[in-house]
Amino acid sequence: MMKINPFETLWGAVSRHLKDERLRQLFGRYATYVGSSPFQAVATLLLIAHVEQEGVWTVKGGMHEVARAFERVIKRKGGIFRYDTHVQRIETSQGRVNAVVTSQGEYIPCRAVIANADANAIATGHFGAEISKTVKTLPANARSLSAITWCVNAKTSGFPLAFHNVFFSRDYKREFEALHQGYPPDPTIYLCAQDRTGAVADKERMLILINSQANGDHIEKNRDMIENAMRKKLASSGLDIDWSSAKITTTSPQGFHALFPATGGALYGRASHGFYASFQRPGAKTKMPGLFLAGGSAHPGAGVPMAAYSGRLAADAVMNFLASQGSRVASNQKLTLA
Ligand SMILES: Cc1cc2nc3c(=O)[nH]c(=O)nc-3n(C[C@H](O)[C@H](O)[C@H](O)COP(=O)(O)OP(=O)(O)OC[C@H]3O[C@@H](n4cnc5c(N)ncnc54)[C@H](O)[C@@H]3O)c2cc1C
Repeated sequence: MMKINPFETLWGAVSRHLKDERLRQLFGRYATYVGSSPFQAVATLLLIAHVEQEGVWTVKGGMHEVARAFERVIKRKGGIFRYDTHVQRIETSQGRVNAVVTSQGEYIPCRAVIANADANAIATGHFGAEISKTVKTLPANARSLSAITWCVNAKTSGFPLAFHNVFFSRDYKREFEALHQGYPPDPTIYLCAQDRTGAVADKERMLILINSQANGDHIEKNRDMIENAMRKKLASSGLDIDWSSAKITTTSPQGFHALFPATGGALYGRASHGFYASFQRPGAKTKMPGLFLAGGSAHPGAGVPMAAYSGRLAADAVMNFLASQGSRVASNQKLTLA
């Protein structure tokens, strides 16, 4: 246990091995994969660098294909999807979950619910007061980072982009200190040039991302300032983007907060700051019989692979719960996903 240095920060571990500040930034950046600061996150996150050394996977057809593949399998097994359906309440009766109520007023009786909205949405009453006490609230200062993103379709010149590109800030420590206030004046920019696996057409598709404080539940500030800083930095790094004819879709922390209620726009649930952070995420089981959690805010954490793993843990917990209740899921029984 002590050999893995459980109390050392990621930045501390990186600094012991690397003298060059730029290399420290490169390896310190792994903390942001889980929306955290390298100056507060545990060194264990360097495992991500180790895993990436083995190679990085992409999905044919893009990430959306993962969701489509799940949909195909679930439908084949008899599951029913309700898209664009807001769940308003998870109802209980006699101390256990017994139904889901949608905003269209549909009442869906059930014996178990797996909620993959952010756990804080349950804790803050977004699914009704009855179940809010069964999950702990997440204080705003424990949230992971949010981001402002620009999906851009534009012509680029200056130098050929790679698939993944990072334009680092000059002073990483100052950048993360500034993140406590909102957007940093000199931000690190991630740019994914997703068409760079083959021949690039006249215009190319890009995702540009800058981390920010998860303050999406407050009034938006400095959005123009950060967009100007982004454009200026890319230009001064030698990358020219023809903004005049570009198609741009922007999502700010406020936008992420609207998509993921009760998060402030935090993309990864609780920040992975300090040794105990991993143990503070809620597990699949809650105090309410029949209510289970999955997703980025639950154990083992955020990111598509981990969120998928938490789904598996939740599925196991539901099967055990139903077995302990003396009921079993019959093969012809329908699974409803809203
Ligand atoms: C810009 C960005 C970049 C990212 N980059 C990466 C990356 O490179 N690699 C990686 O692994 N991860 C990445 N992530 C994180 C990853 O997307 C998440 O960790 C993962 O999607 C979490 O899955 P989930 O099922 O918990 O939640 P989500 O994918 O957030 O799904 C939860 C869904 O529940 C819905 N919902 C909430 N409340 C209700 C309600 N009351 N009724 C009905 N529906 C509701 C929400 O609208 C949402 O669609 C990124 C996230 C963002 C935003």
